[in-house]
Amino acid sequence: MPEPSLKVDHARYVVTLDPERRIVQDGAILVERGRIARVGKAADLADARADRVIDARHLVVTPGFVNGHMHVSYAHPVRGIFPDDQGSPLKHVFDLQAAMTEEEEYHATLLAILELVKSGTVCFMDPGSTKFPDACLQAYQDSGIRAILGECVTDIEGPLRLPRHPTGEAAKRTAAFVEKWHGRLEGRLRAWAMPFSADTCTADLLRAAKRVADEHGTMFTLHHSSGPQARAQYQQRHGRRPTEYLESIGVLGANVNLAHVLGIDEAEIDAIARTGTAVTMCPVTAAKGGRGVPEHGRMPELLARSVRIALGCDSPNNSNHLDIVRTVNMAALQYKDARQDMRQVPAETALELGTRLGAQALGLGDELGSIEPGKKADLVLFDTQRPEWQALWNPINNLVYNADGRSVHTVIVDGRVVVDAYRQSFVDESRLFGKVQEIGERLQARTGITFPRSRWPIV
Ligand SMILES: [Zn+2]
Repeated sequence: MPEPSLKVDHARYVVTLDPERRIVQDGAILVERGRIARVGKAADLADARADRVIDARHLVVTPGFVNGHMHVSYAHPVRGIFPDDQGSPLKHVFDLQAAMTEEEEYHATLLAILELVKSGTVCFMDPGSTKFPDACLQAYQDSGIRAILGECVTDIEGPLRLPRHPTGEAAKRTAAFVEKWHGRLEGRLRAWAMPFSADTCTADLLRAAKRVADEHGTMFTLHHSSGPQARAQYQQRHGRRPTEYLESIGVLGANVNLAHVLGIDEAEIDAIARTGTAVTMCPVTAAKGGRGVPEHGRMPELLARSVRIALGCDSPNNSNHLDIVRTVNMAALQYKDARQDMRQVPAETALELGTRLGAQALGLGDELGSIEPGKKADLVLFDTQRPEWQALWNPINNLVYNADGRSVHTVIVDGRVVVDAYRQSFVDESRLFGKVQEIGERLQARTGITFPRSRWPIV
């Protein structure tokens, strides 16, 4: 049966993110067979007929948002248990993740996807945190979202409880995962090579994982930060800076996306730019974790070198929310404050990071990230009939500085309406919320990882 056609008509604005960055007032979009067939003024598309027409006179349409680093699987049931005064919860995070059962992971993933899609994310990259993708497949399928998955592997002993295998086996598992998952659900699922980090993987494993990405025409991601201490250690051990070490072993390149990327220096920026490597930055995690963006954040320099950058929400215990619009907002604010210069990362650039540039950084620039004929019909329709959207003169400023994901009215992925006027139909929300709370109780009891529930008495 042919995919039903869809028309978004009389949109207050269509923010196309096309090469000219046109913003079409009283715009219309025609979607056929899951792709954008036409976009322009409503008057110019008056002849276009479709199976369904969405009246968008109070809506602002943008491309679907992409989230380039999002651990979806474990954290929702224990979101918010870590008090600020305990410092980094990283060790507990991996212990909790290791303790999850299939059924628990499925429900946690479903809740994460619900939050992602309802706040405008159409594609997320989970850096290997899902242990039971077979169990979670139902959630990917039912929600209609796009997901980039992989198996997290390491082959060096370390303080975190990460999946560890002999080098050869870790490489084989990486290839087997990509072969099993890449391209499923009509291409909505993609699979990448996902060694955890250069500190937890040997050069042999990193090279083997990169080879898997090269041979399968897919990508490779790695947690990567530097900073003066790491630089000194790498200098001593490998005679190079961390990013230069990656280049020296052959694992930088156009199909590589490095996550976080804080603390890099000029030479490392040059290595990233020269090799066409992409990055994903997590501005809310950086701020909440006190990672020192004024000293260690180099987003403006990376942008100046035309590095492809995506934004990530990281995890429900790092950023605590999965709202990409709030993350875009943080990207726009963070460097103004860090550099004491209001001209840094303008609203337009921040929106590009969440859409066009972000899609490019995930290797999806040909298909996603802008509203142009031929691209996949992934669209977000924002509701302007809300106080925070008024008055409306400049839709980019309103979206980036006034709004958040709660004004997401309708979400379309592959031409299918997955959130329809604030409602979705893939999960019973209140049942799921109860279930995830229960899972959180069970997980804390099983692992003994608990904290006082509040610094203030709950009476
Ligand atoms: Zn991560």
